[in-house]
Amino acid sequence: MTSFKDLGLAEELTCALDAEGYTTPTPIQEQAIPYLLAGHDMLGIAQTGTGKTAAFALPILHRIAGDKRRAAPRTVRNLILTPTRELAVQINDGFATYGRNLRFRRACVFGGVGQGPQVRALNGGVDVLVATPGRLMDLMDQGFVNLSTVETLVLDEADRMLDMGFIQPVRKIASLLPTGRQTLLFSATMPKAVSDLASFLLRDPVRVEVTPVSSTAERIEQKVMFVSRDNKRNLLLDLLRSDGVGRTIVFTRTKHGANRVAEQLVKDGVTADAIHGNKSQNARQRALDAFRSGEVRALVATDIAARGIDIDNVTHVINFELPNEPESYVHRIGRTARAGAEGIALSFCDAEEVAYLRQIEKIIQQPVPVDIEHEYHAEPIARLFASGKGTAPKRGSGGGRTPFVGGNRPKAVTGSGRPGAPGGGSRAGGPGGAGPRSNGGPGGNGGQRRQGAGPGGHGHGKRG
Ligand code: AMP
Repeated sequence: MTSFKDLGLAEELTCALDAEGYTTPTPIQEQAIPYLLAGHDMLGIAQTGTGKTAAFALPILHRIAGDKRRAAPRTVRNLILTPTRELAVQINDGFATYGRNLRFRRACVFGGVGQGPQVRALNGGVDVLVATPGRLMDLMDQGFVNLSTVETLVLDEADRMLDMGFIQPVRKIASLLPTGRQTLLFSATMPKAVSDLASFLLRDPVRVEVTPVSSTAERIEQKVMFVSRDNKRNLLLDLLRSDGVGRTIVFTRTKHGANRVAEQLVKDGVTADAIHGNKSQNARQRALDAFRSGEVRALVATDIAARGIDIDNVTHVINFELPNEPESYVHRIGRTARAGAEGIALSFCDAEEVAYLRQIEKIIQQPVPVDIEHEYHAEPIARLFASGKGTAPKRGSGGGRTPFVGGNRPKAVTGSGRPGAPGGGSRAGGPGGAGPRSNGGPGGNGGQRRQGAGPGGHGHGKRG
């Protein structure tokens, strides 16, 4: 089995990983790291929970370990763009953890808070900057940061950037970076706008893909509980009061619903808080911190707010309401069973949600076992589900499963996605075969991996 040492990472990093208890690289780490160390651009199709943060952070830190130069004042050597403050903080924490044995300067900038401390952090120059696009643009416009010497650009959760309207700022930022940089783009899904962005930003990229969301649920025990809408509150309370239910994320479809459920729980004596898009960044961060520290036991969240939340030891995910986008189900339940742990996902299904459940079973390609061992089991709803009747759910827009249609179609490297999962990973050459490499490849297998630029061979020229 490949170890982090086999990947050729500096000892300062392998020691830090040991201390974290990471014994083996996850599939995305195993596949991506050799190419990234060799300087290639990369298109990573992966969501949080696969170990992608370390997949891009370790090669960056490895370069920092081997290079004593430091960033000049107000300049940045490695830039990570991410859509939300929560993700920015998590990624910044990852760099701190993996780079704990290195001397380097990092900063994390995001909106919703005063810019003074961020400006001061940038003043001396930083080796690693984790930023949300809006705040970074503000700081650039005021002259507090200069991106003309960026060596590596990482674009994290590109599909979410798109949802949040950040694609134009990202293009603008990228256009200010040197063309000789290394660029990595990660996205869980590949709608056309993201593959267009990938073609714009990436130069002859390697494509690394970890299995689609549907297979992320291996270590998660899933159950559905048929219950009338009126009884959901009592069922939730019973569950939260039962043994073995620890840190729990409760999902609702709407912000209003999240507030209501959190308020009810607090009234019923359970420590709870809600996290959703209408809350200020500070309130969201406070709720997350309280949840992480154990001060709050139940975090009630909407899908958008919860994507990317990385908190260990979440024992249960409870879908108080089923999502109307079946892909969200997989994202939601992936909040438990993080980092190799086991987790339990319980879904409440009322009469109006049976069609959502059918859609979910279709995309996870398995039936969700029914739990009838609870006081509120509603047999008529179970029968409605079994009958195949019930209104079909409306699918929202976005979150599509559009295939990659980029200009520079990169070659594929695939594998299963979870930390701790056996490192599957077949390497499939892209269409047209791979041309020989001139400078030797990473990990001894590079000779067969490079592929020419897309139609017209203008990949280099388009770079932003
Ligand atoms: P990410 O996909 O980057 O959000 O990572 C998901 C979780 O997996 C985080 O809690 C990481 O700390 C953990 N993780 C990342 N790499 C490994 C590894 N090689 N072994 C064990 N856990 C890991």
